[in-house]
Amino acid sequence: MSAADSPLLSVVVPMYNEEEVIPLFIERLRPVLDTLGDSYEVLTVDDGSVDATPQLLLGLRRVWPQVRVIRLRRNSGHQAALTAGLHSARGAYVVSIDADLQDPPEKILEMLTLARARNLDIVYGVRTDRSTDTFFKRITAGLYYTVMRRCAGRAVSPNAGDFRLLSRATVDVLKTLPEHQPVYRLLVPWMGFPSGEVTYAREQRAAGRTKYPLSKMIRLALDSVTNFSASPLRLATWLGMLTFAGCLALACFSVARHLLGFTVPGWTSLFLVVLFTGGVQLVCLGLLGEYVGRIHSALQRRPAYFIAYDTADPAGASTPTV
Ligand code: UDP
Ligand code: MG
Repeated sequence: MSAADSPLLSVVVPMYNEEEVIPLFIERLRPVLDTLGDSYEVLTVDDGSVDATPQLLLGLRRVWPQVRVIRLRRNSGHQAALTAGLHSARGAYVVSIDADLQDPPEKILEMLTLARARNLDIVYGVRTDRSTDTFFKRITAGLYYTVMRRCAGRAVSPNAGDFRLLSRATVDVLKTLPEHQPVYRLLVPWMGFPSGEVTYAREQRAAGRTKYPLSKMIRLALDSVTNFSASPLRLATWLGMLTFAGCLALACFSVARHLLGFTVPGWTSLFLVVLFTGGVQLVCLGLLGEYVGRIHSALQRRPAYFIAYDTADPAGASTPTV
């Protein structure tokens, strides 16, 4: 196998509508990888972008042959784009990094040196501060990691995102997991491989806007909880029992009042009880629905993504020219 077939390092970069940051990102990434002194590939995963991202990436290959482009047919989400990258990467080590320069490319070399020196399978990029995050992001992230550390274990770092290095052995194990909607920041620590970390200050997004609107954040949070815990279902049972006990007490109270001759109309309390029990039932139904929906989509066994083209594909006929 030639070095190009299995390079030392694959850098996986999911990108969704990142036309503004691509030039800036490449400008920072290339000098870093050129000092590596070994073979590498830059595996860009275009997650169904609708801006100039695909043209920019294909054009980039002419001046930087180590760039490989995998384009997904539709926007499948950050984690699915990462899955596509991990499944296609050929390196002995695989680093995943965001395209917006919030994760500094210079740290890749530090990760690699650490992994090789201490024979580690995983090196996490750990943020030393979140001062560049908005107040809302800090609060929601704090809540998310508190809950997820309870569900998925203490190995989940509250300050590690998707900037990490994985060894070939780890990637190969990840590829065998039948997880339908993986959340890598939880799944990777859960595997328990020897790991280390490098710290970095999280920078501002270099250009463009976040590609993680609230709806995608909620989706990630729901995937995270349902992947690692059935506690919400247990919570629903407790909530149901509590409401039942409350209603029973109220029923006894009303019967006693009736028997004692206090026949007040009491429609307000009745109304409140009906509203409250209805609300609790709907919440519990919703929780059930989240799990049933995931069982349903897991049973459908639809792939998480479809590749439109991969420039490393030997057939390669479908790769457009720019
Ligand atoms: N991304 C993606 N598909 C999506 C959303 C985001 O591939 O549906 C990529 C995006 O291009 C970036 C990374 O995932 O490289 C992280 O997204 P972003 O920086 O917008 O998230 P934030 O840092 O705001 O949480
Ligand atoms: Mg970002």
